[in-house]
This record gives sequence, C-alpha cells and structure tokens, in this order.
Amino acid sequence: MMSVQAKSPRRVGVFGGTFDPPHLGHLVVAINVLHELQLDEVLLMVANDPWQKQGTREISPATDRLALVEAAVNGISGLTAGSVELELGGPSYTANTLEYLHAKEELLEIFTIVGADAANGLLTWNRHERVSELSTLVVVDRPGVESALPDPANGHWHRVEIPHLEVSSSDLRDRVNDGRPLDFLVTPPVLAEIEARAMYRNRGASA
Ligand code: ATP
Ligand code: MG
Repeated sequence: MMSVQAKSPRRVGVFGGTFDPPHLGHLVVAINVLHELQLDEVLLMVANDPWQKQGTREISPATDRLALVEAAVNGISGLTAGSVELELGGPSYTANTLEYLHAKEELLEIFTIVGADAANGLLTWNRHERVSELSTLVVVDRPGVESALPDPANGHWHRVEIPHLEVSSSDLRDRVNDGRPLDFLVTPPVLAEIEARAMYRNRGASA
C-alpha cells in the first residue's frame, strides 16, 4: 500500500521594511537568509504606512517604494516584492500581515527577518507576542548596531551571518539630494526607477 506523506509547509521569510529605497544591504540579507534557512521564498514586505517613522521624515508613497522593490527583485529567484500591507491599507503591523498570510495559505511556516536595529525595537511593535507565535524570528547583524538580544540558546530564533554592509536608505536619500552617486549601492534597475520617478530630489537637509 502506498503511504500518504504529509505535505510539508512552504517556508517563507517575511522581511519587512520601508525600502525608501531598497539597497544592497536589504538584498544581501534576503538572499543569505533564503539560502541559509533553505526557504522557498523571501518576501520583501513593503510597509504601507511605517507608523513608527511617521512625523520623523518625509516618506515616499508606498506605490513608489513597491515599484522600487519590484525592480530590485525582478529576475532574482526566491525573492519577491510583498504588497500585502498596501492591500491591507492603514498603518502596517507585522502581526496583521502574518495573520493574513496564514489565513491565505494553510501550510505555511513563516520566518520574520529583522536587522539588529529592528530586532532591538521588537517589543515596541504592535502585538509583538503574536509575531512570535506566528513565526520564527531571524536576526541579522547590522554594522554599528549592538544587538540587545541574548544568544538563541533556546532555539526560538535564529541568527544568520551575512557580510556586513554599511548601507542605509537614509544615506542614499541624502546622496540623491546632494547629487552624489548611488551606483553600486543599489542595483541598476532600482537606480533607473528612482531617476524615472524623480525621487529624493531637493528635499533639503537629511530628508
Ligand atoms: P532608513 O535609513 O530609512 O531607516 P534602512 O536602510 O534602515 O532605511 P529599512 O527599510 O528601515 O532600511 O529596513 C528594513 C529592514 O532591513 C530592517 O530590519 C533593517 O534592520 C534591515 N536592514 C537595512 N539595512 C541593512 C543593512 N545594511 N544590513 C542589515 N540589515 C539591514
Ligand atoms: Mg531603518
């Protein structure tokens, strides 16, 4: 008699961000976590309304940021631009996003991917316990950030080693504003999209 094998869940990484703009640091995180944890897919999940950043600076429209992330992952196997938070609308809470993904796909194992700075702020997230219930946390180092998390001795979360790249969207926005080059810090399709949409120009100091 043939044995019926239980289907194993699809392993999906959710890497949330403002991606204003997406840069090589983001792509290096996504591709290395995909490889290291043998995930089927990593979603670069574009925040619709990054509520913790509101009021601190000008945030580009979500549709522009999604277009940049689509340009960044286009043709890269295993990386996908996530538009769920735009579809849900309103302020973006990872707990809501994970609930939505679980409701849509029954056999899903989710890994929530964060850089060390985001990991240090995890307890300030809306319904953060829900994020831990619905996913396994994956933390990557970020240059210049001291991780406040203890070692993952209990196996409830992972640390994935990645090449340390000191790139940030804030610096990239300043560069466009000052007329300095973005080359080699973002991929050529992302650069083309930033130029086509005339983003980050003339915003004044630290826009
Ligand atoms: P900003 O300067 O506008 O805050 P950012 O470069 O920090 O932009 P975000 O969209 O805020 O980019 O970050 C999304 C996620 O990517 C966060 O979890 C953050 O920790 C992680 N991240 C961003 N840049 C890097 C990097 N260079 N190395 C590792 N992780 C990174
Ligand atoms: Mg940031």
